Amino acid sequence: MSNHLYKNLIGGEWVPARTGKTFLNVNPADSDDIVGEFPSSGAEDVDAAVTAAAIAWQTWRLVPAPKRAEILYRTGEILTQRKEQYAREMTREMGKVLSETRGDVQEAIDTAYYMAGEGRRLFGQTTPSELRSKFAMSVRMPVGVVGMIAPWNFPMAIPSWKLFPALVCGNTCVIKPAEDTPLSTFNLVQSLMDAGLPPGVVNIVTGFGPDAGAPIVSHPGVRAISFTGSSEVGRMVGQTAAGNFKPCSLEMGGKNAMIVLEDANIDLALDGALWGAFGTTGQRCTATSRILLHKKIAAEFTEKLVARADALKVGNGLDEAVQMGPQINQQQIETSIRYCGIAQKEGAKLLTGGSPLEDGTFDKGHFFAPTVFAGVKPGMRIAREEVFGPVVALIECTDFDEAIEAANSIQYGLSTALYSRDVNKAFRAIRDLEAGITYVNAPTIGAEVHLPFGGVKQTGNGHREGGTGALDFYTTWKSVYVDYSDKLQRAQIDTGE
Ligand code: NAD
Repeated sequence: MSNHLYKNLIGGEWVPARTGKTFLNVNPADSDDIVGEFPSSGAEDVDAAVTAAAIAWQTWRLVPAPKRAEILYRTGEILTQRKEQYAREMTREMGKVLSETRGDVQEAIDTAYYMAGEGRRLFGQTTPSELRSKFAMSVRMPVGVVGMIAPWNFPMAIPSWKLFPALVCGNTCVIKPAEDTPLSTFNLVQSLMDAGLPPGVVNIVTGFGPDAGAPIVSHPGVRAISFTGSSEVGRMVGQTAAGNFKPCSLEMGGKNAMIVLEDANIDLALDGALWGAFGTTGQRCTATSRILLHKKIAAEFTEKLVARADALKVGNGLDEAVQMGPQINQQQIETSIRYCGIAQKEGAKLLTGGSPLEDGTFDKGHFFAPTVFAGVKPGMRIAREEVFGPVVALIECTDFDEAIEAANSIQYGLSTALYSRDVNKAFRAIRDLEAGITYVNAPTIGAEVHLPFGGVKQTGNGHREGGTGALDFYTTWKSVYVDYSDKLQRAQIDTGE
């Protein structure tokens, strides 16, 4: 059977890559299942896409924002109708279980409705002038052509976080999905087109980072870059963008800590730990990868966590009974193996897992056993570096202050969680944890689309996705002064008398 051949979307036309090359999108749970064949694009394809987006911008920027928003609203409705189909296709290309891919599509639906609402807001400010008969206000202006580079772990949600606010603000877009999960971006953009998005407003260029991603970042016609991915690539993207004075939003890695104090509801914390550490096979930027346990409850918590990790049903995410799917590719499996080795060399104690699952039903996929390390010290690499797999490190602490200090002792600052019934400690944690997100009595994963999403330190460079923070990235402020006094009035010099 021949593979379904997808093409780039440029100026509303489906076109093959000018490079003539393609790559295969393969189900990470089953190497026999080829999801499709996609263009392996290069700089020329990016150039064509940017040109198309620049032309489309001349008309799209003039469409009233409430009308742009109506397209997003209809997109939300279309995605709702197609949710099950898109979730299944996402499980095939990305691996995570169906309940999670349904959630991923739902996040795009939520973002569509939320950003559609912004079409009738996009508030600026009006403010008095210091001079007589003069009117002052600030308005949001679109940026122009925005380049977007996405990771594979939220194949539809993350592109929607980027595209929908950009579109409602009047920008046009060139998006490069991750090479492991391009189909979900196609499905998202197909829904936008079926909702009435004009040609050229969103352009898709698929391919590998250095060939198809880097030319987007350096292209002079791209006015801003929105990147989500690893800190390593984010640093390169940020440096190139800085060289061209291009606004650049970087959302990167995490090493997210959950603190469980002695007064916590232990079963609730266990539910949270299991979901936070092994949901999406640990491949979330917000994954719970460190658990800081008060010494009084450490033994009980550890024993129960290991039992529950061992009981997880691992397999093909299309099977509704499966609780944890595969890792995305062999490279991620190798990263998990490497970190398990490092942890053991550093003296951490492997309690369960620690290796790939390869026998029988697992032989055609990239499966890794749910893994728990105990006896981890805050200085160890397994406690500081992102694994991006189903591997969790347990660290014992003597008190709340020590736990906060350990939580803050790393270079990342995305998500944090505290399990405690002590309201004073909860508010101290909210105040003192260095992170973009703090949960109380909930795991480190579970962001909602109308709140700002992003992190501090090496997780991000100060921008936020979600909420109104996204509008700040996809618009620039214009200050407008209208002088109706019929005379020259000089700010700071004339008195306004
Ligand atoms: P990655 O950095 O390898 O790739 C991300 C994207 O960048 C891909 O589309 C890739 O093709 C592209 N890319 C690679 N090299 C490039 C280059 N030289 N120039 C331009 N683009 C290039 O990351 P990944 O493995 O796809 O995703 C996992 C990482 O993403 C993890 O570190 C995770 O924490 C992070 N992540 C962060 C968030 C967040 O919002 N903070 C959300 C999800 C994932």
